[in-house]
Amino acid sequence: MSPLGRLRALGAFQHQAFAPALLAGLLATAVYTSAQVSIPLVTGSIIDKALLARDSGALLSNVALLIGVATLSTLSRGVQQTLFAWLAERSRAELQARLLARLYTLPLAFFDRERSGRLQSLLTEDASMVARLGFQALSEATIGILQLGLILGVLAIRHGKAAWAALMLIPIYMLFPLFFGKRIRAASSEALAATAEVATTLQESIQAVREMKVFDREGWAVTRLRGRLAADVARQVRLAVIRSLHGLSYSIYFLVAGSAYWFGGQELLAGHISVGELVALVALLAYLDGPVGRLVQLNTDAQRVIAGVDRITGTLGAKEVESVNGGRNLEPGGHRVSFEGITLCYGDPGQAVLRDISFTVESGQRIALVGPSGAGKSSLVALLVRLYEPESGRILIDGCDLRTWNLASLRSEIGFVLQETILFAGTVEENLRFGRLDATTAEIEDCARIANAHEFIQRLPYGYQTEIGERGVKLSGGQRQRIGIARILLRRPGILVLDEAMSALDTDGERLVREALERLMEGRTTFVITHRPSAFVGADRIFVLAEGQIVAEGRHAELLASCTIYRSLVGAGAKAAPEIP
Ligand code: ADP
Repeated sequence: MSPLGRLRALGAFQHQAFAPALLAGLLATAVYTSAQVSIPLVTGSIIDKALLARDSGALLSNVALLIGVATLSTLSRGVQQTLFAWLAERSRAELQARLLARLYTLPLAFFDRERSGRLQSLLTEDASMVARLGFQALSEATIGILQLGLILGVLAIRHGKAAWAALMLIPIYMLFPLFFGKRIRAASSEALAATAEVATTLQESIQAVREMKVFDREGWAVTRLRGRLAADVARQVRLAVIRSLHGLSYSIYFLVAGSAYWFGGQELLAGHISVGELVALVALLAYLDGPVGRLVQLNTDAQRVIAGVDRITGTLGAKEVESVNGGRNLEPGGHRVSFEGITLCYGDPGQAVLRDISFTVESGQRIALVGPSGAGKSSLVALLVRLYEPESGRILIDGCDLRTWNLASLRSEIGFVLQETILFAGTVEENLRFGRLDATTAEIEDCARIANAHEFIQRLPYGYQTEIGERGVKLSGGQRQRIGIARILLRRPGILVLDEAMSALDTDGERLVREALERLMEGRTTFVITHRPSAFVGADRIFVLAEGQIVAEGRHAELLASCTIYRSLVGAGAKAAPEIP
């Protein structure tokens, strides 16, 4: 498929006004180029028909015509630029929104492989570049082609020989942009890189002021900056020199004008052409520079756009797609969960992260998964919401394979409280509503109350309408966690996963979080992943995981007596949380 076709498949150009705007843009381009190419012709006719003929009536009408044509050219250029800008920005916005939607359809394993910085630059820089440069190139190319056609056409009709001369001039006009274009681009990207290097060094040096001082390395830091600055200066000067050499291309204009005056002048002296025609000829030949330059530039612009499209579609065109629709809906309620011979490998078949895991959790039961870090606890619960698919084995909810349940309904039935609650820039209420978009204000406040969050929220400057995040108030870890719990309460999931939900907390506010979690767990089938004894002693059953396998299971007292790994975990946890007996 062509790059355009692939972008269309991603939905880039879908807007009902798109085709009419493009058509109008092309029409404005045609008006603009025709008006522009007419200017030398009208100038010629002012000289011949008005000045040399000493006809003041013709002077007035031709000058009026000149002003009219010039105004038309300016206006149509303005309309043309506005329409193309609208097309570029509109398709950029559509492209970015659709790319994010597309990104969300890909499985989590895709995000493990791709660096998030790269994905972000695909959605911001590449998408903008493709849309903006794409339409700019289209606009410039149509202008270039129309101008070239019109100029050559006029020359062919009015000065047969000059048209041939013009054709021969084209390669000369191409020479400079071709020769310098590549060099200027290379030099300016080197200059940009050098400037970026200076910026990074500066940022690092300021951020690391403490290290520089305690290591006594201030001098070293300044010398390092000087080195980068020197490289930057060298690159900038080189770029300036290349640019000024490129400026020499103006001499071509005078070469062309000189030869046109020379050859055209002889025609004039021989009485074959008029003075006005000579002036128009010289101006038209000089005009050729514009379209030729535009078409040369088109080549590089098109390559950049195609490379951008390739990057976007190459990454986001991945075949694997999660289907969240289809399948039966998992209705709200308590659920029984069974793992049957689950083995999971993240891409590497030789390296199983989970091996042959089997157990069943009855509806409403609370189980704890404990084990050293890296044992596979988080991976096990990730399988519950199908963030990954196991290599073998299956998971059943209420006796049916996970894959038979509609994915969206499955995910809304399982609530996750993680070590840290991610809040978005926005108000407290918006962040709570993230749990259930159609929740009423009363429901939101109820859940905040149950989660021990209502009080502190009310004390915030604007209560539930207080902005949080980068630009708003900062919340403590415990406060964030309680908002996270209220969010899950709003969702009313039948199954709950607490993945180290208490680990990042300091003792301050911990009681409130623990209380909120207790209320959240009530009546729900719960998986608690933890290294804190306080959280697992109350569990109905405890599973000890090590190196991807269940090595022991039972209740707290049994495991304390029989399992060394468990004993060491309790020991370590007890040290980390001394307030637990
Ligand atoms: P735990 O929760 O017990 O600390 P995890 O389930 O996070 O353990 O990790 C188990 C093993 O799987 C670790 O060796 C970890 O490096 C690996 N792992 C976890 N997530 C991924 C992933 N997305 N891709 C590849 N390997 C992973």
